[in-house]
Amino acid sequence: MLTGRCDRCDWRMLAGSYPEMVRAYQDHLREHHPDRWVTT
Ligand SMILES: [Zn+2]
Repeated sequence: MLTGRCDRCDWRMLAGSYPEMVRAYQDHLREHHPDRWVTT
């Protein structure tokens, strides 16, 4: 399992794969830190 963390708040999550973690982190940024959310 991988642990995703946010350096702007106490958000953490567990993911079974790296892409899953990245996707969850992107969703978190979009919801809580939209100024930092970037699309690639
Ligand atoms: Zn956050």
